[in-house]
Amino acid sequence: MNIERITLHRIELRFKTPYATSFGVHVTRQLILAEVQAGGLTGWGEWAGDGPGYSYETVDAAWLILHSHLLPMLRGATLTHPNEVAARLAAVRGYPFAKAMLEAALWDIAAQQAGQSLSRFIGGTRATVVAGVSVGIQPDPAATVARVQSLLRYPGIGRVKLKIKPGHDLAHVAAVRHALRREWPDLPLMVDANAAYALTDLDTLRRLDAHHLLMIEQPLAADDWLDHAELQRHLRSPICLDESITSLAQAKAALALGACRVVNIKPGRVGGLSAAIAIHDFCHAAGIPVWCGGMFETGIGRALNLALASLPGFTLPGDFAPAQRLFGHDLIDPPLEANPDGTLPVPSGVGLGVRVRLGD
Ligand code: MG
Repeated sequence: MNIERITLHRIELRFKTPYATSFGVHVTRQLILAEVQAGGLTGWGEWAGDGPGYSYETVDAAWLILHSHLLPMLRGATLTHPNEVAARLAAVRGYPFAKAMLEAALWDIAAQQAGQSLSRFIGGTRATVVAGVSVGIQPDPAATVARVQSLLRYPGIGRVKLKIKPGHDLAHVAAVRHALRREWPDLPLMVDANAAYALTDLDTLRRLDAHHLLMIEQPLAADDWLDHAELQRHLRSPICLDESITSLAQAKAALALGACRVVNIKPGRVGGLSAAIAIHDFCHAAGIPVWCGGMFETGIGRALNLALASLPGFTLPGDFAPAQRLFGHDLIDPPLEANPDGTLPVPSGVGLGVRVRLGD
């Protein structure tokens, strides 16, 4: 495919309810969309980065590096497969979300050229996926329980994830575990610390572990490989790594060190769908379950994530909160609707399988 044109769109969406994590409170989501024309087809990709607490790659940083470096490397290029994009952009270190956005648009086009859905094009094996819910940090345990109960009105939820940070952890988890035991006894519960703890918090983390968690996601700093391995030796719950895993090499290192027993895969965090598939393949061969994380994507990024999560190793529920629920509207028309049983259909139309509609 010969890349004829790349247009970037910068968009701000306002959360219906501000969402708090250990990094701070999210009021709006800034995003970039790439609209790529190649071979008479149009493909779309979404920049799904976050603020500086998550990564240096803020929306302003991505916008700058895209215009000054990444777009000139791709404009006019001829590629035979989207898995060539990463090598084309390798002269720029980092900026995985920007690179993943461009690669996503080319995966969309490549699947369209093949006349297949993206899921089928990458070897997906399931037509539906199970979603979990993710609850931001609430002011007190009663508010956390109320938020969980409001989200569990939707059918088919596969697990509950609580965002935690020091001081907003044990009482919240205990209250939710108590509420779940009464109303949803079989529903798995997990926590995500977004790197807010240190090994000196071992006592707290052990007490969290006593709540029989599906996993404890990213308890320690992103580069705390050895401490994660040490911590895992003290916990029954599997540690899941998110922020730590930014490449296949890091996934290999994490598993070799025993730093985790579950891996969260986000195409943007690892630099593209090709890298995401490679990490999936490696973990699947090693018997390590993976799941697809979310970055508050619109339906464009979500369609890509659903295709990824249709691969056989994605055996745990993922974060696929619909944009309508987060922002009140979506950038695709029609929006992706859940099945009556609450599972999410993997888009079956050619390419990403969604129609982009910007503006009202
Ligand atoms: Mg996470």
